[in-house]
Amino acid sequence: MSVYSEFYQRSVEQPEAFWAEQARLIDWQQPFTQVCDYSGPPFANWFVGGRTNLCHNAVDRHVLTRPDQNALIFVSTETGQERCYSFRELQAEVQRMAACLLALGVQQGDRVLIYMPMIPEAAFAMLACARIGAIHSVVFGGFASGSLASRIDDAQPTVIVSADAGSRAGKVIAYKPLLDEAIALATHKPGQVLLVDRGLATMAMTAGRDVAYGPLREQHLHTEVPCVWLPSEHISYTLYTSGTTGKPKGVQRDTGGYAVALAASMKHIYCGQAGETYFSTSDIGWVVGHSYIVYGPLIAGMATIMYEGLPTRPDAGIWWSLVEKYKVTVMFSAPTAVRVLKKQDPAQLSRYDLSSLRALFLAGEPLDEPTARWIAEALGKPIIDNYWQTESGWPILSIANGVERKPSKFGSPGVPMYGYKVKLLNESTGDELTGANQKGVVVIEGPLPPGCMQTVWRDDARFVNTYWSSVPGKLVYSTFDWGVRDEDGYYFILGRTDDVINVAGHRLGTREIEESIAAHPNVAEVAVVGIADALKGQVAIAFAVLKDTAALTDTALALKLEGEIMKRVDESLGAVARPARVRFVSVLPKTRSGKLLRRAIQAVCEQRDPGDLTTMEDPAALQQIRDLL
Ligand code: AMP
Repeated sequence: MSVYSEFYQRSVEQPEAFWAEQARLIDWQQPFTQVCDYSGPPFANWFVGGRTNLCHNAVDRHVLTRPDQNALIFVSTETGQERCYSFRELQAEVQRMAACLLALGVQQGDRVLIYMPMIPEAAFAMLACARIGAIHSVVFGGFASGSLASRIDDAQPTVIVSADAGSRAGKVIAYKPLLDEAIALATHKPGQVLLVDRGLATMAMTAGRDVAYGPLREQHLHTEVPCVWLPSEHISYTLYTSGTTGKPKGVQRDTGGYAVALAASMKHIYCGQAGETYFSTSDIGWVVGHSYIVYGPLIAGMATIMYEGLPTRPDAGIWWSLVEKYKVTVMFSAPTAVRVLKKQDPAQLSRYDLSSLRALFLAGEPLDEPTARWIAEALGKPIIDNYWQTESGWPILSIANGVERKPSKFGSPGVPMYGYKVKLLNESTGDELTGANQKGVVVIEGPLPPGCMQTVWRDDARFVNTYWSSVPGKLVYSTFDWGVRDEDGYYFILGRTDDVINVAGHRLGTREIEESIAAHPNVAEVAVVGIADALKGQVAIAFAVLKDTAALTDTALALKLEGEIMKRVDESLGAVARPARVRFVSVLPKTRSGKLLRRAIQAVCEQRDPGDLTTMEDPAALQQIRDLL
């Protein structure tokens, strides 16, 4: 048996001993008495009885051993700012932010919603919450007021932390008006809004509610706020993600299990060492940003780069210049970003000394072979795919080179990571597929390992019904991804089984986009599907049935309507969710029972066989879509 196979077997056969060992990678104020309580499946409680703190493990413990080493490196090619914070400085800034939150009345267990661009204060706010036991809920800055409002209502934050503006490609994007609109739309009203003024856009301040961060921080320059020792199962954060229904789910995560999972992944998967620099190009609004911009690298005692800007501005060499300058050893990005770079001159990459870099990890969407080959050759470094989800918090499939060096296979994110009992099930029978090269649904047998979601925020029933009920009679967690496994045990991910689409690595629910479009006064009905795109992986295409059908024959009117609908999606959900095209039809393909045949529409758009259409109400509906393409 290979070294990794033994390691993996131990993790699933003797999980208590395995995870107790991994738990030594972090500091505990009080040791745990039980490794895993799985007495109420599918709910798993890790490190029961233990007390720890994420901020202590990410910041304070390193202040004792490496106070002057870089901890957070902020680079904005949008504003031209570049600033390094040592662990000592990071600790001071986090305490100032924590003091401000306390001054605004935030208590342990309260939610703090963070709607921020990629600026250091966003990381300070997350760590400050972890420090005082408040639950952060970061909402991606690219989301607009409608998305933000639904998250405000679900999280019910005491305080919202935001900023005047973000910037993209040199264009200032004001956040404050979007936030004001979202608060107006939301039923829940936060007590206070803490605002960082970057000097990019003017902010209309609401008296009695809005508080400027700068002056309040000045009052707390020297306030000491100790880390609160929290029970392992204390909720550290919720992060919203899209599913089949329009209502986003608050993925809820614990404290102790998450800290252990991240520390272990930094060692076994990413192979990052204390004192080195980690560069993840994601955004704090996504799970990668939580796990591998903020918490993971810092827990490992690494410096982490927080980057605001595009990969191609001022030129395609920018990321690689940072690798050279800060001697980055581990880098993490998404296939879409690489496909963007691929269109640029490869000389931009080779201009820089990349000798510090050991590997580039890519995740968030399928990594196609041409993209993987191109970047592997351009960098001359190993490219390591890793497959996971907001729900898991850390890789489900990858290669654990820190345990044993194993080759990657093009097109495969790798093998099950320790702790995950990954299986493939037949979609209709629920039987396990044990042979090679059989397509099935990727599921995980409980208990989910440490670091994975505890439940859906305030909705245990939704957690059970959504994730654990897809196979009647079997309590397994569904990833909602199709997969196959080859004879060597490597998995290949073949897309989602549900209505989630993945645009440029961003996970979007087609139902949310449909709801936003359906609010247009002239839209009677709409179907949104994700179709393959060479650059973004997938793009959303909307097919709408109109109340006033004039646009079906009037091209100018159709164009105008398409623009209106796109604008509506921009305004309610954000430009990330905007469909690439909106097309008008007289009828949508449905089953006789009225279910939208999204997969058949998708297949037709991708020029594939739409499959069995015997249950279809009106076969001409698909023909109409074919004719439009
Ligand atoms: P998110 O929760 O936003 O991270 O999205 C998770 C989903 O993205 C997964 O369920 C997959 O559909 C897809 N995904 C993430 N990483 C990969 C990968 N390495 N290969 C293929 N699909 C991936």
